[in-house]
Amino acid sequence: MGHPRGFIEYLRELPADRPALKRIQDWNEFHLHMEEEKLRQQGARCMDCGIPFCHTGTLLNGMASGCPINNLIPEWNDLVYRGLWREALERLHKTNNFPEFTGRVCPAPCEGSCVLGINAPPVTIKNIECSIIDRGWEEGWVVPETPRIRTGKNVAVIGSGPAGLSAAAQLNRAGHLVTVFERADRPGGLLMYGIPNPKLDKKIVVQRRLDLMEKEGVKFLTNTEVGVNYAADKLLHEFDAVVLCTGATKPRDLPVEGRSLKGVHFAMEFLHANTKALLDGQKNGSYISAQGKDVAIIGGGDTGTDCVATSMRHGCKSLLQIEILPKPPMERAADNPWPEWPKVYRLDYGQEEAAALFGADPRIYLTTVKKFIGDDAGQLKELVTVQIQWERNDKGQFLPKEVPGTEQTRPAQLVLLAMGFLGPEQPLLDQLGIERDPRTNIKAEYGKYSTSLKGVFAAGDCRRGQSLVVWAFNEGRGAARECDRYLMGYTNLP
Ligand SMILES: Cc1cc2nc3c(=O)[nH]c(=O)nc-3n(C[C@H](O)[C@H](O)[C@H](O)COP(=O)(O)OP(=O)(O)OC[C@H]3O[C@@H](n4cnc5c(N)ncnc54)[C@H](O)[C@@H]3O)c2cc1C
Ligand code: SF4
Repeated sequence: MGHPRGFIEYLRELPADRPALKRIQDWNEFHLHMEEEKLRQQGARCMDCGIPFCHTGTLLNGMASGCPINNLIPEWNDLVYRGLWREALERLHKTNNFPEFTGRVCPAPCEGSCVLGINAPPVTIKNIECSIIDRGWEEGWVVPETPRIRTGKNVAVIGSGPAGLSAAAQLNRAGHLVTVFERADRPGGLLMYGIPNPKLDKKIVVQRRLDLMEKEGVKFLTNTEVGVNYAADKLLHEFDAVVLCTGATKPRDLPVEGRSLKGVHFAMEFLHANTKALLDGQKNGSYISAQGKDVAIIGGGDTGTDCVATSMRHGCKSLLQIEILPKPPMERAADNPWPEWPKVYRLDYGQEEAAALFGADPRIYLTTVKKFIGDDAGQLKELVTVQIQWERNDKGQFLPKEVPGTEQTRPAQLVLLAMGFLGPEQPLLDQLGIERDPRTNIKAEYGKYSTSLKGVFAAGDCRRGQSLVVWAFNEGRGAARECDRYLMGYTNLP
């Protein structure tokens, strides 16, 4: 700990984002960087506590408390304070293959469990992480590290999202020859085609890491869907081991009257086509425009927020985001103490942009949609919302109940369903004959990752259900370690 009084002398400070009304006119990242002197002061706020909860990554009350990949946070905070950026980067890479992604998109459970956060604003851990790795790329410190010895073992990784990428990077490091299968036309999973460009740049930030992995020897096979244009059983013959990282891509639907009207889409249809159009420089037939429309987004999570931000950039006429849960409190509730993840109200980038243009946060709470109404041509024109309240049933479960007389008809020509995901798609898993858990995720014990098929491992959202990028990294690294142990009889992977 370099500065024993840092947490007393310096206040928490973050770099300003680009102004909301300006940034909605382009697709560039909204983050700005902070000057070095200020970053060093922020690093100095870390108290190097006896027990740094920030890097524990345990589950408390079902939510992550601390960093799920156990980043060595106090160590790199101190190195940043002392201006030892290259050493900080080395420490960061020990636990995190891709800090430029977590440094941009992670919700930072580390900050929720920072000891300073008990009675003061926590250390700006996520921003420091992002600054270390961005500096590393700028200085040319991030270079391909090709393994010196190859084991001669071939491993297939199915899916190139964060779980697949971290599994591939680790297995390649162990000397195995790794082929990553991806059904989309570009690798990256939700890092490429889910999270929009303003939050995580594709052409520079995502692509340069994919290029580096290719230079290190990882092979990407895009436009290749295992079980469709590459036979599932071929995998088991052609590779010594397989890691399934296919994500939880089955969206939750809203099967109410009018669901089949033109203009009602799943969020991922909208987000995927938008990023593809940006990267290709042209719109194809699947592009969905929000321009000039009254847009209603159903679901208040990350996906919904990304739909808000994308609709804002399209130039929508109005925006409504409908959330079935109550508005979270401004401060931690009594039953949500430190170091749990703080379930508090947040104005995320999309809502901030909508508020700047339309004058208010677009979210309405304790509300759901009863039906969609179309015109004679089958095009959506309105939706009917109703307020709900949560009531306990005989079994003690909370269930939503409509509040009579609260129906409201609202204009909407575009509806985006962003109500979460129900688990992995089943056809490939059926073809492989792999065991599932009661939630239809691939059955594989956390920490072991081995499935009911010998030599086949599973990691990320397809195993744990819809989650976070940082958990996908945790699982991809863990599955690589267990896969390496299976192949070699021992492992040196962390
Ligand atoms: C819109 C959106 C925004 C999000 N924003 C955030 C955020 O800001 N921060 C955060 O931490 N988390 C966020 N999340 C969650 C996070 O993106 C996921 O938890 C994470 O990407 C899961 O990683 P994964 O590798 O398990 O799966 P995915 O990223 O879903 O990758 C799975 C990949 O497998 C491919 N695939 C599937 N089946 C096959 C097959 N048969 N053959 C070949 N390829 C196949 C898919 O095409 C996909 O590319 C967001 C999720 C969404 C949907
Ligand atoms: S990966 Fe997430 S939880 Fe871990 S240090 Fe970075 S921001 Fe915090």
